[in-house]
Amino acid sequence: MSALGDLIELFSKLPNLGPRSARRIVLHLLKNKEKIIPQVITSLNDLKSSLTFCDDCGNVDISSPCNICNSNKRKSEKVCVVEDIGDLWAIEKSKAYDGHYHVLGGVLSAIDGIGPDELNISSLLKKVRAKKINEIILATNATVEGQITAQFIADSCEKNEILITRLAQGIPIGGELDSIDYNTLSAAFNSRSEMKTKI
Ligand SMILES: [Zn+2]
Repeated sequence: MSALGDLIELFSKLPNLGPRSARRIVLHLLKNKEKIIPQVITSLNDLKSSLTFCDDCGNVDISSPCNICNSNKRKSEKVCVVEDIGDLWAIEKSKAYDGHYHVLGGVLSAIDGIGPDELNISSLLKKVRAKKINEIILATNATVEGQITAQFIADSCEKNEILITRLAQGIPIGGELDSIDYNTLSAAFNSRSEMKTKI
């Protein structure tokens, strides 16, 4: 039984999984062990042996520098700063951006004891000084920690005379004003942009 208990404990330490979800996953694996477990083992081995973190941006790929850093179709003078690789994937899926990235690996958090040295901030500042970068897009989450982190980076980059932007915050597509919380509505007012006309 210890193999079962060990695996449940291991899974319960994964993000967003508690002991209950971990138990459900392990029991599901056990019930379908002949089919799923070999696939999981193969996938985990592939993950371990073939994937690496990009030394330049922190993305995960089969090589370093990653596909995005290596591509000559991407605009290397633009850097989009994100908290985690999942955020990079989300932006890539949107196809809204054609520049480079920088993954911080988290956000500043006094409660959790995460300061600038725990994040990939010094490597970002080094990149800004060394490369021809003309825009930094701060795409950290719209949380208190995300805002503080974005502000810290903006203040640290101030002397470099580059455009520092922050993603607009406000009304989601399809959203209705009377169903949006006041903070979001206030942020939408502050992030309002000029409406383009045909003339
Ligand atoms: Zn990269």
